[in-house]
Amino acid sequence: MAYDPENIFARILRGEIPCKKVYEDDWALAFHDINPLMPVHVLVIPKGPYVSLDDFSAKAPAEALGGFLKAVGEVARLMGVDESGYRIVANSGADANQEVPHFHVHVFGGRRIGGRMIKPQD
Ligand code: 5GP
Repeated sequence: MAYDPENIFARILRGEIPCKKVYEDDWALAFHDINPLMPVHVLVIPKGPYVSLDDFSAKAPAEALGGFLKAVGEVARLMGVDESGYRIVANSGADANQEVPHFHVHVFGGRRIGGRMIKPQD
């Protein structure tokens, strides 16, 4: 799938739409999900134009891949769930019900997450 530069996260990255920012560095922006499913529900997105994890891993330079992963860990620490625990989810494509076609990782936490759920409501 071609990257759509008008997707909502691209617009957040360009500052056209506000977000509740948690963290930002050269590689990633993290912000609270507009419809939180858990006490902690933060989205972490790379700054480049990638649709999905496979797109990101195929096209991004190694320093962008590493920088993004470090940002996800930093978000877990900033949100105070590194000790209590958290779950990361990256929905990719139709079968995973990906809504926004800009690669993103959900960071869920702040309460016990049951079973082997993919998303808290599942
Ligand atoms: P997906 O299903 O693509 O993995 O998740 C997309 C997530 O983006 C959803 O959890 C949804 O609530 C969130 N979302 C959609 N639009 C916005 C927005 O404009 N701002 C923020 N902060 N989150 C959004």
